[in-house]
Amino acid sequence: MRNDYTEKQVLSIARECSEFEHLINAVNYGTSLLNISPASCQRRCPECLYWLNGTCDIFKKEIAAWR
Ligand code: SF4
Repeated sequence: MRNDYTEKQVLSIARECSEFEHLINAVNYGTSLLNISPASCQRRCPECLYWLNGTCDIFKKEIAAWR
């Protein structure tokens, strides 16, 4: 997994993405397993169900266009 994406990138791409689905809502793991509270949820790619360690096709397409 690349982890050198900036917060600006993961926030901006998620903000524009119609497919965003937050893990906490989609998987129903509950907040204790994810170690995040609903209040701290952010619309950012690494918190999306489709992120998959940075392999999301939409993300890859968007990040390629970013540069
Ligand atoms: S991880 Fe993929 S599907 Fe999820 S918000 Fe980012 S670009 Fe969209």
